[in-house]
Amino acid sequence: MMALAELYTQYNRVWIPDADEVWRSAEITKDLKIGDNVLFLRLEDGSDLKYVIEKSLPPLRNPDILVGENDLTALSYLHEPAVLHNLKVRFMESKLIYTYSGIILVAINPYKELPIYGDAIIHAYSGQNMGDMDPHIFAVAEEAYKQMARNNKNQSIIVSGESGAGKTVSARYAMRYFATVSKSSSKANMEERVLASNPITEAIGNAKTTRNDNSSRFGKYTEISFDRRYQIIGANLRTYLLEKSRVVFQSENERNYHIFYQLCASALQPEFKDLRLMNAEDFNYTNMGGCTVIEGVDDRRDMIDTQKTFNLLGFNVDFQMDVFKVLAAILHLGNVEFKRISDDKSSVVRNDRHLQIFCELLHLDAQKVAQWLCNRKIVTTSDTVIKPMTKLQSENGRDALAKKIYSHLFDYVIEKINKALQFPGKQHTFIGVLDIYGFETFDINSFEQFCINYANEKLQQQFNLHVFKLEQEEYMKEDIPWTLIDFYDNQPVIDLIEAKMGILELLDEECLLPQGTDENWLQKLYNNYINKNPLFEKPRMSNRSFIIQHFADKVEYKSDGFLEKNRDTVYDVLIDLLKTSKFKLCAQFFQDNTATKTPYGAAIKVKSARPVVKAANKELRITVGSKFRNSLCLLMETLNATTPHYVRCIKPNDDKLPFEFDPIRVVQQLRACGVLETIRISAQSYPSRWTYIEFYGRYSILMTQQELALSDKKQICKVVLQRLIQTFSLANSLIQVFFRPHTDNSILHWDTEE
Ligand code: ATP
Ligand code: MG
Repeated sequence: MMALAELYTQYNRVWIPDADEVWRSAEITKDLKIGDNVLFLRLEDGSDLKYVIEKSLPPLRNPDILVGENDLTALSYLHEPAVLHNLKVRFMESKLIYTYSGIILVAINPYKELPIYGDAIIHAYSGQNMGDMDPHIFAVAEEAYKQMARNNKNQSIIVSGESGAGKTVSARYAMRYFATVSKSSSKANMEERVLASNPITEAIGNAKTTRNDNSSRFGKYTEISFDRRYQIIGANLRTYLLEKSRVVFQSENERNYHIFYQLCASALQPEFKDLRLMNAEDFNYTNMGGCTVIEGVDDRRDMIDTQKTFNLLGFNVDFQMDVFKVLAAILHLGNVEFKRISDDKSSVVRNDRHLQIFCELLHLDAQKVAQWLCNRKIVTTSDTVIKPMTKLQSENGRDALAKKIYSHLFDYVIEKINKALQFPGKQHTFIGVLDIYGFETFDINSFEQFCINYANEKLQQQFNLHVFKLEQEEYMKEDIPWTLIDFYDNQPVIDLIEAKMGILELLDEECLLPQGTDENWLQKLYNNYINKNPLFEKPRMSNRSFIIQHFADKVEYKSDGFLEKNRDTVYDVLIDLLKTSKFKLCAQFFQDNTATKTPYGAAIKVKSARPVVKAANKELRITVGSKFRNSLCLLMETLNATTPHYVRCIKPNDDKLPFEFDPIRVVQQLRACGVLETIRISAQSYPSRWTYIEFYGRYSILMTQQELALSDKKQICKVVLQRLIQTFSLANSLIQVFFRPHTDNSILHWDTEE
C-alpha cells in the first residue's frame, strides 16, 4: 500500500473513466495519503475534480517519453487507457497504422491509400529483423518467411477483426509479399496465379454490406506452398461457411455477391446473349437491397478483370460459360413468382417466362420443375402422397434451391482454383494465411453469428495456448523460475458449444426429429443448462433466445431459424430433377457424394452417426453445424502444427473516414479481439525483454559516474539494477533483462479503511 501511495503524488497523471473518450487524462494536485478516499485532480481543460476512490485507484498515465512506442508491451504502465492512448497518438499524430502488442501486430484501417506498400518497401523489409524495422504487415510476413526457412517449419498468419477492419486487405498484402520475395523465373507465373485467386474468390464470395463495400461473406485459409528453395510452387484454399442467405435476400443498401452485378452489367455482350440477362434492377435477387451500384466500382470493367483472371488461371471459355450460365439461371429462378389458389393451401407458378429460361439454361423439364416447386411428395410406409404447398412454402422452396445451387457453384469454383494452383511433386513447406470473420454481436444474432463466434472462441484458445507455450519456453531458456500464470481458459464455452450434449449436438438431435422445432430445441437448452452452466443464461424478457458468455462479450442469440439453417435441405424431388439434368455441371452439383464433402471439397470421415440428418429420400446429409465443427477442428489441427503470427485489424470509425479515431469503437474491438487479454497476460509475466545493451541505452540516465566507468555494459546494468532493486537477482539471466510493468490489472486496488 505504501508503494502504491508513492505513485499517486502531485504532478503525476492518471486516467479516469469518461463516457465519450472512454478514458480522460487528469493530473494529481495533492499527494495521496494512506486511507484517503478522495484523489484531487485537475483535468486537461483546467477544471478541478475530486475523484472519489471506491475500492480502486485510477490507472496511472505513462510518462510522455514512452508515448508512441511501437510495441505496446514496452509501456511502463500496461492497461487499457495506456494501450488506447498509445494507439491513438501513433494513428492520429504520426499517421502510423501498425503497432506491435507483443507478438500481435495491431493494424488500424486508415481508410486512405498509403504509400507504404510498394515493391521498394517490400524489398526494404526483406531479410530484416522484425525489431529493427517499423511495425508493418510486411514485417510479419518477413518474419513468417524467415522462420519457415530457418526452422523448416510451416507458418500461419492469422488475421482477424470485425467487418471492414481491413482483414482482406492485410491478407492480400501478406500474399503479395511472399509472391514478391520468392519470385523465380522458372515457375511459369505461379506467383501471379496464386495472387489471381483473390479477385475470383472476392467476385463470388464478397458483397457490399452497410459496413463494407467489399465484405467477405466467407472465411478463407490460403495455404501457399514453397519448394526447397522457398519459392512459391502453388497454393490451396479452404473456405468456411459462405453466407448463403445473401443469394436470395439482401437488407436495405446491401448487394448480392459482386459477380451477379458484373454479369448484369455485361448483359449486352454478344457471348452472353443466350443468358437473357437484364439490368440488375430487374432481377429480384439483385435488387432487394435497393442498391445495385457501388460508388467507385465499375461492374462491367470488373467483369473484364474477372474473365482475365479466369484466363490467367487457365479456365477455358467453356468452363467460364458454364459458370455464367448457372449464375444467370439463379437470377431467373429468383424472378419466378407464385400465385395462391383459392383457399391458400396451394399455389402455382405465375410467370413462367423466367421459369422457362431457368429450365433452358439448366436443361430441365419446365413442366416438372413447375410442378415440384409447388408440390411436395410425402412418402409413408404404405403410400406416396402429393401435397400442395402454399405460396409462401413454394417461395421458400425456390429460395432454398437457389441457395443450394449457388453454394455448389462456389465450392466448385474453389475446387477448380485449387486444381489450377496444384503443382507436380511435393511441397517442402507452406505459409497459411487465415482471413476469417471476427467476433460479432448485433441487435439480433442468429445461427451465423453463433458459428462465427464459436470459430473465434477456438481461435482465441489457440492463441492463449500459443502465448502460454511461448512464455514458458522463453523462461526455461533463461532459467527464470516459472510461476504458472492464470491464463483465461475458454474451454468451458467451447465445451458448451461442441462437446457431447452441447448446444450443437442438441441442435442436430432436434433436426433429426420430423416434428423438431426451434422452440423445442430451445426448451431443451434451457432444461440442460439453466443454473447448471454459468456460461448459459435465459434472457429475462424473452423465451425465444438464449445468452452465451463468450470470451469477448455476452451475446444473445435468437433461436428462430436455427433448425432450418442447420438442416439446410431442399425438397428432394427437385434435387432428383436437377440430378438428371443434361447439363453436366448442374447434374454433378447434386450427386449424392456431396453429402460428406467438406466446404473445400475433400471428403472427410464423419465420426459419429449423430450429426447426420436423414432426409426423406434416404440420402444422408451432414448438418451445417457439424460440418463447420469438423472443418474448424481440421483448421485448428493445421494451425497448431504451424508457427502462428497474429494480425488484429481494427476499424477506427463507422463512417469509413480517413484517420478518424473513435475511442469507444476501438476499445470495443481491443476487448473483443484479445489484445487487452494479451496485455493482461503480459502484465502478469515479463513483457519487456531487452538485451543489456538496450537496457543500458534506455536507463543510462539512472547510472552513476562510477558505474558508467565500468567497462562492461552488462556489468554496469547488473550493478545498477542491484543498487536500485534490492531483490533483483540476475544470476541466471544470460542475455536479457526481464521486466514486469507496474500494474497487474488496469485498476489498482485501494483500501480506504486503512
Ligand atoms: P469483412 O469482414 O467485411 O470482409 P475486412 O476486414 O476484410 O472486412 P477489408 O475489405 O479488408 O475489410 O477492408 C475494408 C476497406 O477498408 C477496404 O476496401 C479499403 O478501402 C480499406 N482498407 C483496409 N485496409 C486498408 C489499408 N491498409 N490501407 C488503405 N485502406 C485500407
Ligand atoms: Mg474481408
